[in-house]
Amino acid sequence: MSVSLKIIKLLKLMSNITNKIDFANLPMAYEEHKVEIDNAIKGVLQNANYIMGEPVKEFEEKLQRFTGAKYAISCSSGTDALLLALMAMDIQPGDEVLTTPFTFIATAETIAFLKAKPVFVDIEESTYNIDPSKIEEKITARTKAIIPVSIFGQVPDMDFINEIAIRHDLFVIEDAAQSFGATYKGKRSCNLSTFACTSFFPAKPLGCFGDGGAVFTSEPEFATKMKSLRLHGQMERYHHKYIGMGGRLDTLQAAILNVKLDSYEQDISNRQRVAQKYTSFLKEAVIIPTVNPESTSVWAQYSIRVKNRTETVEKLKRNGIPTAIHYPKALHQQECFEYLDYKEGDFPVTEKVTREILSLPMNPYLTTKEIEFITNQLKTAIQ
Ligand SMILES: *Cc1c(COP(=O)(O)O)cnc(C)c1O
Repeated sequence: MSVSLKIIKLLKLMSNITNKIDFANLPMAYEEHKVEIDNAIKGVLQNANYIMGEPVKEFEEKLQRFTGAKYAISCSSGTDALLLALMAMDIQPGDEVLTTPFTFIATAETIAFLKAKPVFVDIEESTYNIDPSKIEEKITARTKAIIPVSIFGQVPDMDFINEIAIRHDLFVIEDAAQSFGATYKGKRSCNLSTFACTSFFPAKPLGCFGDGGAVFTSEPEFATKMKSLRLHGQMERYHHKYIGMGGRLDTLQAAILNVKLDSYEQDISNRQRVAQKYTSFLKEAVIIPTVNPESTSVWAQYSIRVKNRTETVEKLKRNGIPTAIHYPKALHQQECFEYLDYKEGDFPVTEKVTREILSLPMNPYLTTKEIEFITNQLKTAIQ
């Protein structure tokens, strides 16, 4: 153990005494692999291969091996990954894309950014994922794609969704920004549909030290097109076939991710350990998250539901326990989507969940003692 790691562990012990809990514990994620990360960064600085350097290629190969996806194309963010996929399938103004209103804004923002229309489908109360049984009634002649979001780290029923898509000739893009590493029927998230997008934003289960993302596809033509779109639509230098974007992943971030991906399986099992502890301590007290038997979650969030959320958050905060709300407002209730003309009551399950959902601290480093402290405080707070 390095000296700095010892100091961090000591600080952590002391912070336990004062009951301070870190929500995502990003400092620890650096400390844990400090030497390798520092060397990886130094290597990039010494080679000055800042754009599309060797570590980017290495990272993409690792992504393919890890997910099983045929093609992995790194890019500048999860948002840009969604844009690349939508642009690759040639989404046009006025096209409709089905998705969930219970997600981060980027999922629907990118659809609207391309002047297509986000069409929302309510969620399941058990997993908070899009309700597959409600998809078909929203399909019209203008529908081009479905974007299921693997919310909080768990993949929705992709077989069911892919089957609908085949029947209606639609594309499926898995928004896997929160589920990188999760499994569904033995296969990895990002390898379950024609397109998948993920994010390496620092607070995601696999995070870099800035913005980053990747888009995955099973189709070689789409892979070629997205590689080009990521580079201003060029096929060779200064010869531009498409209107594209500057959407590359920095070599620095790729070098950091190469280190972090090597130990990511360990992070996943630790997140699963934390989730299991939470569940065992909380199952009688609050509505706990559920994982389908054919799936494993990477626990981007451990989100419970409580009735008196505002007071609960306040009480936990007073005891040094940070919480977060994913998400306080559904997308159909956002000002930027007023033009879609949805109204309150259109998505009753989503609306109910947004009023009750509450995310507890989640990171691979939480100890059983800390989890006990958090859950005991929570049980008192909800009374
Ligand atoms: C974080 C996130 C994104 C966007 O990823 P960025 O890398 O922040 O652009 C998209 N969709 C979902 C569901 C997310 O959680």
